[in-house]
Amino acid sequence: MHPKKMADALNGQAIARMLSSDSELGTAFKLQFLRTIEEQEGFFFRLISNAHWGPGGSARMPLSSPPFWRRIYDTMLELDLSYSTCWDEYSDEEILKLPFDFPAIVGDCAKQDFGRRVRSSLYPLQICRLCDILIFRPTHAAKLQFRNNAEGVKMIQSKMVRLFPEVAADREYHFRPSQDNSVYARARKGLGDLRRCWDKKIWPTAPEDFKKRLSKILTLPESMIQMQEGLDGDLPIVPVFEMIMWDKLTLAGQLCKNYAVRKGRAFMTKAYVLQPTWEEIQVEEGDGRERRQEQLWRRAWTTVNWKYRPATHHEAYWKFIHKRSWRAENRNNPGAMDFTIGLCYNCGERDTVSHSYILCPDVRYIWERATIFLQRLLGRPTTSIQLSVQEIVLAFPEFRQTLPKEVRQRVVLWHSAVIYAITSLRESSLRTPTGNDGNRFDFEGWGDRVLREMYDVLWEIHEVEDVKKFATEWLDGNSYVEIASGKLVFSNRFSRE
Ligand SMILES: [Zn+2]
Repeated sequence: MHPKKMADALNGQAIARMLSSDSELGTAFKLQFLRTIEEQEGFFFRLISNAHWGPGGSARMPLSSPPFWRRIYDTMLELDLSYSTCWDEYSDEEILKLPFDFPAIVGDCAKQDFGRRVRSSLYPLQICRLCDILIFRPTHAAKLQFRNNAEGVKMIQSKMVRLFPEVAADREYHFRPSQDNSVYARARKGLGDLRRCWDKKIWPTAPEDFKKRLSKILTLPESMIQMQEGLDGDLPIVPVFEMIMWDKLTLAGQLCKNYAVRKGRAFMTKAYVLQPTWEEIQVEEGDGRERRQEQLWRRAWTTVNWKYRPATHHEAYWKFIHKRSWRAENRNNPGAMDFTIGLCYNCGERDTVSHSYILCPDVRYIWERATIFLQRLLGRPTTSIQLSVQEIVLAFPEFRQTLPKEVRQRVVLWHSAVIYAITSLRESSLRTPTGNDGNRFDFEGWGDRVLREMYDVLWEIHEVEDVKKFATEWLDGNSYVEIASGKLVFSNRFSRE
């Protein structure tokens, strides 16, 4: 098991204790955690639904956040912080406090349908739980239904007035029916999207035992009486702290109070073979297809966990194969939080992970030119190399097969350096606007970076490996480095600068 995973399982213990504790320390921890999320413009329920945080399109806490809380947040993501799904152990009030985008209820919709404007328009108005979107119709067979348009509008207006009292002074202006980007218009659209999704997809495919549990609610709990048909439908505004059912939170599939490091590790080991979704990468149909597919990814993990891979390369590759790399986002609505994938700055295609690492013409050019580096590193031709999605994602397994065993790892080193160079140049372009009119992925200097990265790793290996072994595996035929008076040096023929 990878040491990082082990550390996560261990940290999980401390986190689970804090989350399940009602002591002063536990409360302070929880409050500070929520405050940090808020300061970074996040929202706790995004953590539970694994939703993108915001800029950069990552589910992780932004890099600008305090490292201590970032680590905690990341560990919670890794250990899949969630709510229990033992519906029968929920009271009526509790079950209605579940987030409307709870993955165990909404399935794939959480990923595909909520990205654009549902969360970003409804969370800021504290519309985030089932009790906020459903209405209770005592005379209907299905008593709990999604609010209709009029009921939805009423609730949004009421929330806005409570949250922003200044709105009440000029209702006509703030609640103008135009289709612009006002908070009000966006919330109406967001709720409309959610309603369509709820009626067409979520409800028809929601787990039967969950629906059964909801159908057992015959009268509304006192605190949620506003959900009754005909009332204004707006529940009191409460602090996020009180919205969260702390004693229902689970880590690694265990209620926090039952969490144990052993369980965390078992969870991690299982999670570790979860296969990323690359439609482009499929093993052939036939017997044992599933097992073969799993083996394919297991081999990829072995590649990820290569002994000499620097942490920075590891992270870059991991993000890449899990499609968690930073991507261009839609920023055409200033002030509005729209974090869906945008268009590639350089060529205008959708900036998907396969585009940004493989298919974009600018990146394609890098891979093509970089094969010359590989030739020199191997000291042999690379004519049979395929720059296909599968080969690039899996670090060229086919091509490695054509090489003598002892030099195959050089391909992994080269691949690692190229992925890292692309990642770091893309990330710095996303962080800082480049070019005259905004952003461009600026890949200038990629070649130097690849060479420098390869050299640094080689230097490290040379420090610890047996001399003879190093020569066969890394030195013979390699025109980048040579040994001069027992030291590894960059060959004169290639300047590092
Ligand atoms: Zn492009």
